[in-house]
Amino acid sequence: MITIQCVDINDLKPDLAAYLSEKLPAVPVIRTNDIVLDPLTRESEISIDDVCTYIETFLTRENINDCILSVDGDKILVNTTSERKINVIRPDFGLLACPHCGLVTPYKEEMDVHIRIHYLF
Ligand SMILES: [Zn+2]
Repeated sequence: MITIQCVDINDLKPDLAAYLSEKLPAVPVIRTNDIVLDPLTRESEISIDDVCTYIETFLTRENINDCILSVDGDKILVNTTSERKINVIRPDFGLLACPHCGLVTPYKEEMDVHIRIHYLF
C-alpha cells in the first residue's frame, strides 16, 4: 500500500488518482489529504519508483513544474516549491472561463469581447 500525500495539489487529486488507476494495477482511494494506492490483486506489485514516475508525468502534463516528490518509506510526498496551492479552474466541458474573473460562457466571440473589458479599466 502506497500513500501519496498531496495537500499542495489538492484540486488535482481526483485527476491524479484517475491517471494512476489507468497506469498502475492499483485501486486509488482518495482521502482528505492523500491518495492511497491499494494493489488490484494480491499478485500485483506496485513499485514506488513507478508511482513517482507516473506522478511526474502527470504533473508535466498538467504544466506543473514547481513540485518536488520525496519518498519516505511507502509514502510519497508531493510538495510545491513555491508554497503556492495549485488551484485549477475547471469549466464544464465545452465552456470557456475568463482567466481574470472566472466568467463562463460557451461562446468564444463573447469571451473575446468580455476579456477586453479587463484591459479597458
Ligand atoms: Zn472576466
